[in-house]
Amino acid sequence: MIQITMPLGFLGTVYREIRQSLVDMGEMFDLLQQQAEIEDKADAPVLNVKGGEVTFEDVTFHYDPTRPILKGISLRVPPGQTVALVGPSGSGKSTIGRLLFRFYDVTGGAIRIDGQDLRDVTQESLHDAIGVVPQDTVLFNDTIRYNIAYGRADASEEEIIAAAKAAKIHDFVISLPEGYDTAVGERGLKLSGGEKQRVGIARTILKNPPILLLDEATSALDTQTERDIQTSLKAMGKGRTVITIAHRLSTIADADRIIVLEKGEIVEEGRHEDLLMQRGRYASMWARQSAEEEEAEEQGAA
Ligand code: ATP
Repeated sequence: MIQITMPLGFLGTVYREIRQSLVDMGEMFDLLQQQAEIEDKADAPVLNVKGGEVTFEDVTFHYDPTRPILKGISLRVPPGQTVALVGPSGSGKSTIGRLLFRFYDVTGGAIRIDGQDLRDVTQESLHDAIGVVPQDTVLFNDTIRYNIAYGRADASEEEIIAAAKAAKIHDFVISLPEGYDTAVGERGLKLSGGEKQRVGIARTILKNPPILLLDEATSALDTQTERDIQTSLKAMGKGRTVITIAHRLSTIADADRIIVLEKGEIVEEGRHEDLLMQRGRYASMWARQSAEEEEAEEQGAA
């Protein structure tokens, strides 16, 4: 059991920030027995994941009743498939992720996993079924081993190393004088954005959830790191249902389905090639980003 000595007011703030940033810390708050704003129904059963199909049925949502955010979102992610959410800033991509993790309840419609309404099952079982790889992985002031194994206290050394290898962080870890015993976090070794993300990927691989929610980093990583991370994310996604919140379109061109959101509505959906042929919003976003990336590469090469 972790000993945590923090004032509860501070925890409230942290909880709000975590909800906002989509960090996978459901377990931490279960441990702390924090009274979350969303409560389980009395005698709620656990979520029974069969294939991991995720459906949104005419979902509406607002944070504030005067300002609707999602306006009737319907989508189905078949088991084992990858769906990417794209759209301008503020279009509602992260909100969809927060609702899937049930940080908030929908204000209309329903979200189901394998037919079960999220509101009917325990939050603990829901959080166990979904692995979240956030933009910014939170590290605890502890060893790299602890940070990878977080959420799986029973993990063996072999399992931890296998997860680290799959996330392409093992070689880096063993190059450190203290290896997996290296202290990281605020008071330890500061890891780069890419290294932190790979610790987060290793943590998720070890957790082995049937559903993944990826919040792609907006901050630019160098090209090699970016490629390595994409490779690890793809490997991790095999055989799982994946919802990716994408900021750069180049990373999601091979998704099974791309959903284009605008002001809380789905305005286009389909595969990359089909959407390019439609010459609509996705095609112009793609053209704009390709031009920007080329320009950045030229500047980098100059
Ligand atoms: P980005 O690409 O910039 O991350 P996004 O598409 O993920 O954007 P969301 O974070 O889902 O967008 O936000 C959708 C809308 O909801 C925005 O207008 C935002 O201001 C609003 N919003 C987000 N979180 C809250 C909140 N906690 N309270 C009130 N409004 C919020």
